[in-house]
Amino acid sequence: MDIDTQVAPYYRAVGKEAEIFKHTYSSRIPFLLKGPTGTGKSRFIEFMAHELNQQLITVSCHEETSSTDLIGRYIIKGAETVWMDGPLTIAVKTGAILYLDEIAEARPDVIVAIHSLTDHRRELFIDKLGTTIKAHPHFMLVASFNPGYQRGFKELKPSTRQRFVAISFNYPEAKAEAEILAKETNILEADAKKLVNIANKIRNLTELGLTETVSTRLLVDAAKLMRSGLPKRLAVHSAVVEPLTDDLEVIEALNDLCDLMI
Ligand code: ADP
Repeated sequence: MDIDTQVAPYYRAVGKEAEIFKHTYSSRIPFLLKGPTGTGKSRFIEFMAHELNQQLITVSCHEETSSTDLIGRYIIKGAETVWMDGPLTIAVKTGAILYLDEIAEARPDVIVAIHSLTDHRRELFIDKLGTTIKAHPHFMLVASFNPGYQRGFKELKPSTRQRFVAISFNYPEAKAEAEILAKETNILEADAKKLVNIANKIRNLTELGLTETVSTRLLVDAAKLMRSGLPKRLAVHSAVVEPLTDDLEVIEALNDLCDLMI
């Protein structure tokens, strides 16, 4: 769990997402950010929390994340058993924005737990305490979800999805993406453009059947390696190509392609 809204995060707008979010926040409707990994979803929510001057609590969900992890549990402290609020309960009580990153990865009881918070009731039932708490007026639930049109990704039920206002994130258009790389890493503009060209070339190679393709995050990593002095080709091989696949033939083909373009 991270709590951080102190530093103004850099976020390059790609559409009307900030406007939509502000309106959704003013009605406190739950918000869903859809899109592949590394497309700026988390950065966007950090930026919005800062803009709205709200505390942000982030939980990265994984297959073991349960409602107990979010709501809270009894822990043994010395000779006593004491109750400890989980991040969801803290956010509900204090009026923070709770960001459930990759919500579909979590165990199904998480969806059940947030149910009454996502409709007009705005309340949280804590079964272990037998209490129900009303959400603080500033509380808002935000989740991210990777729709993953290929295998291996978990789905979100339509009945859950329809409790959220949603927007789609994708790779920014070339100019914006190059700008992000330059701003994030101080890399030369010409190098930023080359990295974006490589990414777009690989993104269009759908026949490779990659589960996930080159994200802005991978490009930022490559740019950081280049910025710190690693030879450009090595930076691209290790930060862009290697994380994408373990298929040696594909790696070789992509490395060759990158060498021609960097
Ligand atoms: P996601 O949550 O979608 O997996 P992140 O928000 O963690 O992705 O983005 C990954 C990285 O890509 C960020 O750390 C940032 O460097 C960069 N990034 C992507 N999109 C943007 C954007 N629109 N503005 C600024 N940085 C961005």
